[in-house]
Amino acid sequence: MRYSLPELEMYLVDSLPGFSCKRCARCCQEKLIPLYARDLERLEALNGQFCSKTSAAERRLTGAAYKMRMRNGKCIFLDDTSCLHYDLRPATCRRHPFLVTGKHLLVSSTCPGIDWSFTQPASDAKGLSAEISLQIDAVLGDYLRRRPPGSSMPL
Ligand code: SF4
Ligand code: SF4
Repeated sequence: MRYSLPELEMYLVDSLPGFSCKRCARCCQEKLIPLYARDLERLEALNGQFCSKTSAAERRLTGAAYKMRMRNGKCIFLDDTSCLHYDLRPATCRRHPFLVTGKHLLVSSTCPGIDWSFTQPASDAKGLSAEISLQIDAVLGDYLRRRPPGSSMPL
C-alpha cells in the first residue's frame, strides 16, 4: 500500500522501502525543517543565527516554534551539496527520508534515494521521529478523516 500525501510531500506506506542517499541535497532546499528543544540545545553554540520563527500553519503541522533559516530557498547550512554542520544537524535531517510514528510509516515522495525494490525494518527511524511523532499522528488522523473520497489515491 502506498498513499500519496502531497501536502506533506510524503507517502503513507505499510512497510519502509530501501534507501541509499544520492547526495543530491534536495532535502535541504525548499523544505520546512522544524527545530525542537534538543535541536536548539545542540545548535546553541551557533547563537541562533541559523533559525527563524515558524508560521502558525507550520506550527500546527510540526508543533515547533522555530525552523531552519532558508536563504534563496536553500538551508543556511548547505554548502553546495554538503551540510556545514553535519554533526549538529536537526533530528528531521537525521531521520529523512522517513518518518515513523506510533501509528504511521511515512516516506519522502521527493527523495531520489528511495528504492522500492526491497523493504527494511522501521526501528532506527522510529527513535529519530520521537519529537514529531504525536504531532504527525494527530495531523494525519485529522487529514485522513477530512479528505474527500478519492483525494489520496493508492499508487
Ligand atoms: S533528497 Fe534523498 S538522496 Fe537526496 S540528499 Fe536528501 S536523503 Fe539523500
Ligand atoms: S541542517 Fe544540514 S542536513 Fe539539515 S537541511 Fe540544513 S544543510 Fe541539510
